[in-house]
Parts: sequence; structure tokens; C-alpha cells
Amino acid sequence: MAHPTELNYCPNCGHALENRKAFGHARRFCPACDRVVFREHKVAAGVLVEHEGKVLLVRRRMGLRRGLWTFPAGFVDFGESPPQAAVRECREETGLEVEIASLLDVIAGREHERGADIVIVYHARIVGGELLAADDADRAAFFAPNGTDLPPLAFRATQIALDKWRDSRPGAN
Ligand SMILES: [Zn+2]
Repeated sequence: MAHPTELNYCPNCGHALENRKAFGHARRFCPACDRVVFREHKVAAGVLVEHEGKVLLVRRRMGLRRGLWTFPAGFVDFGESPPQAAVRECREETGLEVEIASLLDVIAGREHERGADIVIVYHARIVGGELLAADDADRAAFFAPNGTDLPPLAFRATQIALDKWRDSRPGAN
């Protein structure tokens, strides 16, 4: 039985993988393809959007941690850059058009089976659209940065990004 983070079958040909020592330690190996199969990171991108001193959060409509809040984010599709994915996810989940202002943080560590291994979070500003929750979100709203005003958060990455955003604001302690 493979470790839960390891693959059981070759993603190229479907053959059962075995362990073989390569590049310093045991790795998953496909005997049919005659090559080591590396697990690839799942990458997500999202935005922290500030408006009138408040930050935009969405409530998860589906899946794990449904009903809890996080910033607009989702997986980076093939053929898409992380900033493009972040802008698209914000449009899909909140109805707001944003443009990327700067990089806020890169957060590593998968939090659940269907989660991302790396989350890239940008500062973004609103350039258009109307606030309307959709897609993976059933609510979208702005919250003051003060911790007591925030709704229950979905992920460790949400907390990390919000802490960083608070610390980066003018007048932060
Ligand atoms: Zn194979």
C-alpha cells in the first residue's frame, strides 16, 4: 500500500507502480515506462481584495469546509498563469473584475485530500463588476481586518494570508 500522498498507478500508462531507489531514495517507478514517476504539485491562486479598508471573502458552497470563508481562489488550469487564474476565480466567485497589484504570499502545504499543495496569493484591486456570489461561493462580502469581525475561516492558508495582509497595511502594528 502506497503512502497516501504517493501514486499507485502510472499516470501515463496505468501500470502499477513499484518502489525503486533513484536520486537518493526510494521513489515510485513505472516498469512499463521505465521511468521514475514524480508526483506533481497542485497549484492554486487567489486574491486578497481590499476595498474601503475591508477585505473580500467568500463562503464555500460545496465540499469540505462548506459554510466557512476564504479568499477567492482556485486551481490554476493548464494553459493559464497564476495571475490569470486568480483573476478568473475572483470573477467566477464574486462577480468582481480585479487586476493584480502585487504578490502577497506563497503558501505551501496541502491541507486536505482535494486541496492545493501551493497557494499563490495576490493583492488585487477592483476595476469593475458587481458583487454577486456564484460558482463555488454562496456568499461574498467585505470584512474589516480586525480578527473579531471576521467570519469563521476555512483554511490555514486563509488565516496566513489574512495575517500577512493585516501586517502589510499602512498603520499595521
Ligand atoms: Zn507507465
